[in-house]
Amino acid sequence: MKSYYCWKCEREMPFLDEQEWQQIEPLLPLAKQELIDYRIAHNCDLTTAKRNCYSQATQIFELMTGLPGFHFDVIYHHRLCDWGEECPSCGHLLRTPKASFCANCGWRPESKP
Ligand SMILES: [Zn+2]
Ligand SMILES: [Zn+2]
Repeated sequence: MKSYYCWKCEREMPFLDEQEWQQIEPLLPLAKQELIDYRIAHNCDLTTAKRNCYSQATQIFELMTGLPGFHFDVIYHHRLCDWGEECPSCGHLLRTPKASFCANCGWRPESKP
C-alpha cells in the first residue's frame, strides 16, 4: 500500500494495490447492506448509521491502513489501478489512467502531445 494525495478526499490517503483490493472488494457490497440493515434496525438517519455502523470492510481497511471509520463509499475510490501513474514531477497520482497531464503541477508526459 502507498499513500498519495487523494483528489476526492482532498488529503493524503492510502491507496490499495490489487492484492489488498482483493481482500476488501467482496466486503464492500456487504457493507452497503450492513448500513441499510443498521438504519432499519435502529430507525436512524444515514449520518447516524454511518457513524455507528462499523462494517467488516471498514474494519479491514482500518487493519490495513491504520485509519479508522472509513466507509465503503470512500474505500471504493482508493483502488490504485483506477488512478493514473505517479507524477514524476510532484509525486501526486494522475487523476485517471488516461490523464494527459498532472492536475497538481501541470506535468505532461513527453510521448503524449
Ligand atoms: Zn479518497
Ligand atoms: Zn505533478
